Amino acid sequence: MDKGLLLVLSGPSGVGKGTVCTALRKRAPELIYSVSATTRVPRQGEVDGVNYFFKSHEQFKHMIEHDQLLEWAEYVGNYYGTPRDFVQKTLDQGLDIILEIEVQGALKVKEKFPEGVFVFLMPPSLQELQSRIVGRGTESEETIMRRMTAAVEEIALMQHYDYAVVNDHIESACSRIQSIITAEHCKRERV
Ligand code: 5GP
Repeated sequence: MDKGLLLVLSGPSGVGKGTVCTALRKRAPELIYSVSATTRVPRQGEVDGVNYFFKSHEQFKHMIEHDQLLEWAEYVGNYYGTPRDFVQKTLDQGLDIILEIEVQGALKVKEKFPEGVFVFLMPPSLQELQSRIVGRGTESEETIMRRMTAAVEEIALMQHYDYAVVNDHIESACSRIQSIITAEHCKRERV
């Protein structure tokens, strides 16, 4: 059986990765979503096991030490990581999986899965990015500034990705990502 496609959707915080992923999952329910582990406190409405596996620092450290994470990164004071087994099992079943992660983690996945498909989601502009983070209303002023500084550094790493998709409208960004998935499947059809 052919392995599934490992799709990594990355890009700066606030660019709309989560929203695009949610919309993609509605359009393409066959696409499996990897739920990350994090030490960040849940935001209002977030559910353990659905949005993230919320972990203490000790629990997260245990996962690292027992090699349970495919990649992990510290981002603006919190740890985030991708549970390894779930990704591997999904791919082995021939199913496509999407990881929605920040840039350092995406580059680590690329080292382990160079055959993955790496998509960088771009904001239409930095001003637009800042207003999206502010508009979310969940972050302190200091965190907003830290996330903006991180965004500038992350955008500089876009060259390591296979594709860039500007998130101007959610539905058109989703359509472009679906076209990428289709194209990558066609590429793999070649013998
Ligand atoms: P947030 O706190 O806004 O949910 O996420 C902050 C950043 O961490 C986002 O850019 C998000 O994509 C990223 N992130 C979420 N899960 C993971 C993960 O498993 N690994 C890595 N490296 N980044 C993640």
